[in-house]
Amino acid sequence: MKIYKGYKFRLYPDKKQIELINKTFGCVRFTYNYFLLKHQKDNTKRKLINELKELQEQNPFLKEVDSCALRCAIFKLEDSLKGRLSKKAEPPALKRKYVKQSYQTNYMTYTYNGKKYSSIEIDLKNRKIKLPKLGQIGIKGYHNKKEINGDIINATISKETTGKYYVSVIILEDTLPNTKVEPKKVIGIDLGIKDLITTSNGEKFVNKKYAIINEEKLQRLQRKLSNQERNSKNYFKTKEKIARAYATVKNSRKHHITNIINKIVKDNDIIVSENLEVKKMITVNKNKSAKNIADASFYSICNLLKWKTKLQGKYYYQVDTYFPSSQICSRCGYKNLKIKDLNIRTYTCKNCGLEIDRDINASINIMFEGLKQHYKS
Ligand SMILES: [Zn+2]
Repeated sequence: MKIYKGYKFRLYPDKKQIELINKTFGCVRFTYNYFLLKHQKDNTKRKLINELKELQEQNPFLKEVDSCALRCAIFKLEDSLKGRLSKKAEPPALKRKYVKQSYQTNYMTYTYNGKKYSSIEIDLKNRKIKLPKLGQIGIKGYHNKKEINGDIINATISKETTGKYYVSVIILEDTLPNTKVEPKKVIGIDLGIKDLITTSNGEKFVNKKYAIINEEKLQRLQRKLSNQERNSKNYFKTKEKIARAYATVKNSRKHHITNIINKIVKDNDIIVSENLEVKKMITVNKNKSAKNIADASFYSICNLLKWKTKLQGKYYYQVDTYFPSSQICSRCGYKNLKIKDLNIRTYTCKNCGLEIDRDINASINIMFEGLKQHYKS
């Protein structure tokens, strides 16, 4: 089985490389905006790429940067223009300078003096990456990995608003033959706002407090920014603080979730969760920042479960959006449709008398529902 995998490394460019990267951002923005504006004036269908050479002749500085990056930008523009015609998608917007900057470049091979070269090379042993025009740049990340096997597809070089540089490399990897494990252990998981994950084994994983604290700090800063004079010195100071707080929230959340999911997938063979759509509809929680985190977390949890189980030959099922997991008694199957209040933390069964934590009860029901799917398939 072949799968696309993304690797994101921190980049450590030297002074000259920083200059060239920033120049490339500028040239990509220039090219993209040029063709977008031109297209708005005259939207007859044509291949924009054929006009790049002409633009480069008129603006020689465009020849100093990775030309593949310029072509990628044009292809993206053509795609979004096409998308707009067919699906009524959002019209493409001009690229701006004061947001996250990035450019993409594709993997290419060429032969020179009988020797084969490729435009992007990763050397994990020496922690270096070779990128077009930039040459070798130091990288950090995936310190446990000795090598990456697979075909490099493309690389995206970016500069976060925090001023740090990164490269994301997409690689088509050959994974082990997709042999399914003999399932022995099954687990159901319930996703929630207070307790992020509750399992049918009775385990609870909470949302890390610091993520919520940071999220609240973030909202405070955003309010502050809206009161500040646009483009003033303090405005940009607040903007940078926001970028840093945002990065902290995102990274700590990602790390936390990955750890939990790794453990769950390692210990179980059949994993069942709810469909993520269910949870999106629940907006009873007054703490908005907690809810924001939960929304983003649910998405990454389901996504991680999907491909981690696939990679390890395990099974992942999602139960139907309308499956009433919190209304059914997990011991006798009695259904109490009156249970709607999400503030009641205990499930009490009128039929058999079972008293159980609401989320654990739900996760057990989810587990059984997933098992049904497993044996049907
Ligand atoms: Zn019961």
